[in-house]
Amino acid sequence: MLATSQSASAKPDDWVGSDPGSGVGMPALAPLEKTLTLYFETLSRSLGPMRWWPARTPFEVIVGAILTQNTSWSNVERAIANLRRAEVMTLRAMERISTPRLAQLIRPSGYFRQKAKKLKAFTRFLRRDFGGSLARMFRTPTAVLRERLLEVHGIGPETADSILLYAGEHPTFVVDAYTHRILARHGLSDGKPEYEKVRALFERNLPPDVKLYNEFHALLVNVGKNWCRPREPRCQECPLGPYIPAGLASRIAAAGPVQVEVRS
Ligand code: SF4
Repeated sequence: MLATSQSASAKPDDWVGSDPGSGVGMPALAPLEKTLTLYFETLSRSLGPMRWWPARTPFEVIVGAILTQNTSWSNVERAIANLRRAEVMTLRAMERISTPRLAQLIRPSGYFRQKAKKLKAFTRFLRRDFGGSLARMFRTPTAVLRERLLEVHGIGPETADSILLYAGEHPTFVVDAYTHRILARHGLSDGKPEYEKVRALFERNLPPDVKLYNEFHALLVNVGKNWCRPREPRCQECPLGPYIPAGLASRIAAAGPVQVEVRS
């Protein structure tokens, strides 16, 4: 589901993509379906709808998914504005522009030389394997396309899943540092941030519904930004506050900051 940049809720200013990244040792899964559904319904009532991803086209979603690695969304927005102004936000234009010039345009997003190479690598992949057609690319079965995306230079699990879900409407759950922190604090994981295990946790316990995955991820990011900070989580005001398991609230307070680096 795409939303126009004018109408969409923007990603939170301090939203930070965590690729390249991604295990969590899981507790028994039986109650998780109920728990996750309850969390989703509560957050939807309190905060939704989020209307992600803020982009004008699927191609722009993909560019944003690469640019947001290790930087805030506000920086990505500045880079995207440059690309739009220079009329480079199409496959053909991005193929034609030189890598150094592309790097200058996306400079606000940080790591701009590496990211320019990543964008170029994606354009080569799309042209070589799918004749330049995103529609063709997204007709590929989800698991197959995911594997192929992960082979592209600079595309890790979070970026691949963002591309699949937000640009291609494939039912794959996007996991990020916010998701890990919330799960760990609620005792739903042991706190080891292993990407694939957390993705499987969501996908095993929720129906493969694109709108649900889209909205749930966006809601978790919103919670991470506004309440579930690494330091001093604001559980009293957080919509998920009522669901902290007994005894965990004081342990969360005592544990101090939770910094999460997601491993593949
Ligand atoms: S702020 Fe507290 S209640 Fe909210 S998600 Fe984080 S740990 Fe849970």
